[in-house]
Amino acid sequence: MSKLNILQYPDSRLRTVAQPVKVVDDRIRALADDMLETMYDAPGIGLAATQVDVHERVVVIDVSDERNEPRVLINPEILKAEGTERSQEGCLSVPGYQDTVERAEWLHVRALDRHGASFEFEAHGLLAICVQHEVDHLNGKLFLDHLSELKRKRAHRKLTKQSRLTA
Ligand code: ZN
Repeated sequence: MSKLNILQYPDSRLRTVAQPVKVVDDRIRALADDMLETMYDAPGIGLAATQVDVHERVVVIDVSDERNEPRVLINPEILKAEGTERSQEGCLSVPGYQDTVERAEWLHVRALDRHGASFEFEAHGLLAICVQHEVDHLNGKLFLDHLSELKRKRAHRKLTKQSRLTA
């Protein structure tokens, strides 16, 4: 396994819409393993392939306290979403910025596992938020896009000032 480089806002590659995975093979399994290692190291609770500049629909998530429940979602689809919930979000591609985002509170999700088998699950709480955040990444969206225009502009100014200083 190896650690991957995480793209940082405002990198335009984060706006790429990822393609569906056609075959779940060793290449995809190796990508998922590298993404898990990268996510645990960061540390974060979720990572989308888009964030490591691979534009295929692969997401890894672990929302457990013990950090021992890795989930790999390939071609994830949110089949049903209900309710609303507001919570504080951050992102490994938007370091140093958090804000309140409104999401659905309950989801029914379908995805392929690391062997290419289709499975479905229900998600609520942190897992539901994380799945929506990561599927957004696969669609070229960031949590900042859910903020008001005023807040988004303020965040952009703060974040681009930071990247100029560290570039
Ligand atoms: Zn993110």
